Amino acid sequence: MFLSHHSKHTKGNRHLFSQGGGKQTMKPPRFQYCAPAILDEALALLEQQGDEAKVLAGGQSLIPLLNMRLAGPAYLVDINRISELHYVEPEDGYLAVGATVRQQQIERLSLVQAQHPLLREAVQHIGHMQIRNRGTIVGSIAHADPAAELPALLTCLNGEVVVQSVHGERVIKAEEFFTGYLSTALEPGEMLTEARFPWIPPQSGWAFMEFARRSGDYALVGAAAVVTPSLDDRCLSAHLTFLGIAGVPVRVREVENILVGTTLDDQTLEVAAEIARTMVSDDMNDVHATVAYRRALTADLTKRVLRVAWERRKQ
Ligand SMILES: Cc1cc2nc3c(=O)[nH]c(=O)nc-3n(C[C@H](O)[C@H](O)[C@H](O)COP(=O)(O)OP(=O)(O)OC[C@H]3O[C@@H](n4cnc5c(N)ncnc54)[C@H](O)[C@@H]3O)c2cc1C
Repeated sequence: MFLSHHSKHTKGNRHLFSQGGGKQTMKPPRFQYCAPAILDEALALLEQQGDEAKVLAGGQSLIPLLNMRLAGPAYLVDINRISELHYVEPEDGYLAVGATVRQQQIERLSLVQAQHPLLREAVQHIGHMQIRNRGTIVGSIAHADPAAELPALLTCLNGEVVVQSVHGERVIKAEEFFTGYLSTALEPGEMLTEARFPWIPPQSGWAFMEFARRSGDYALVGAAAVVTPSLDDRCLSAHLTFLGIAGVPVRVREVENILVGTTLDDQTLEVAAEIARTMVSDDMNDVHATVAYRRALTADLTKRVLRVAWERRKQ
């Protein structure tokens, strides 16, 4: 059942502030609030309220949006009490992360440190410790900010999300999930219950890097890379994905293809960087950086992230 609620002032999101738009008020519009303890109840509420409802996870993006009146859902379905969504499970092929797991919990988990260091490296770039203490892994993916780390990582790894509603479950590939700026394939009545981060082959090298104006800021441009060597120590396969260069994470297959069969020598990396430069969308011109600057950062980052990933491979 929903309870009437008018939330208190909450510290805003610097990224959203600086993006501008909307009234600069610090009070959210009136909404009804409910915090079910069982998933089925949450799904029933989401079905009942349709696009009038929003899921509340860590609140690190949603609460600032409400406070600035950039979002105004009539209902908030708080999922934090649903214990069945609080799990991290190593599965055959991927690490499964339930919808209420905090970013900080993933960062600290020894299983992640030992078996999915790229996920840890990506999470460590998210905002500040205080944000990661509360923000969830899955919430960041649902929010689909094109400058966020986790959507880019999930895309790079060819990961998936699990979506549930009262009508059942569907599994969506990352590249099909992110459909545009802050937009996803989620339909009204649906919620994300799990993110699946594929394991990286043990011999592969990996890296996550970004350029931000200050530590803790959203990145201007970032990149995730995984490179797998062949037995004769050439590149067998490569995955490279950028954040901050378009409205969705961009996996640059054209670059990946030219790396295969090479030793990621300087000449190859120069060619890769020039191709990656052209992938930056003309729309990426804002108060933070011009398109030209983002193109220069993208080219530079291509070389840096691939070099580090290749150095980390196991021969
Ligand atoms: C100062 C500041 C700096 C930040 N810096 C960064 C940064 O550098 N990089 C970065 O990636 N993020 C950054 N963030 C955002 C942070 O990572 C958020 O935690 C994240 O974007 C959203 O996760 P959340 O759990 O807080 O979701 P919420 O804020 O609760 O929700 C965000 C959106 O996702 C939806 N949602 C959440 N969970 C689900 C679900 N299970 N199913 C369906 N929809 C769902 C909500 O309805 C809402 O629309 C920053 C935030 C702040 C305040």
